[in-house]
Amino acid sequence: MGELDAAVTRAEDNFVVLDGTCFFPQGGGQAGDTGEISGSKIVDTLSDGEEICHITEGAAPFKPGQLVHGAIDWQRRYRIMRLHSASHLVYYVMQEVFGDSCRPASSGMLDDVKDRSDYLFDEPLDRGRLALVEDRVNHLIANGLPITHSLEPGSKERLLWRVAPFPAMACGGTHVRNTAEIGRVSLRRGSKPGRGRERIELTLA
Ligand SMILES: [Zn+2]
Repeated sequence: MGELDAAVTRAEDNFVVLDGTCFFPQGGGQAGDTGEISGSKIVDTLSDGEEICHITEGAAPFKPGQLVHGAIDWQRRYRIMRLHSASHLVYYVMQEVFGDSCRPASSGMLDDVKDRSDYLFDEPLDRGRLALVEDRVNHLIANGLPITHSLEPGSKERLLWRVAPFPAMACGGTHVRNTAEIGRVSLRRGSKPGRGRERIELTLA
């Protein structure tokens, strides 16, 4: 899983672009893939407009037209998929538990270990209620709910992510197919990112 055979379309100092790839670029709250392409270590994947740039550890030893074989570090990617999928559940349950006093501000994954989301809060974060969010998210995960994708009506490329009973959410990231794949998660309050804001850190247990 997560392997590719492709041709090089562009190679620069420290990155290579292919005519097709399964490497997911950093963005939408998800970390970029790592892995290897024809013996060269890929340390990150970034998108630049239409192009997906595979960042090499040293100079990129590729030539345009060269055929290459590559593979994602699948274990890492799978942890990212679990973490990213869990972050959607946390988003919904935060609204359920804290209501209108809490509004999402930004979210993003640092790596395959931790996801952090910032929320605007009208009142100090109640740790007891955060523990409730963690319990509820773990309950949803344990229920083994199917995760589905569909195209947004009227769009040819915008993807919607959905896990019942929650409304669909636009997301082009990578997700597991069932919440049970996520396994238990932990939530903790991170260092305060600013006045009126709280940071919630999510890790796989
Ligand atoms: Zn997503």
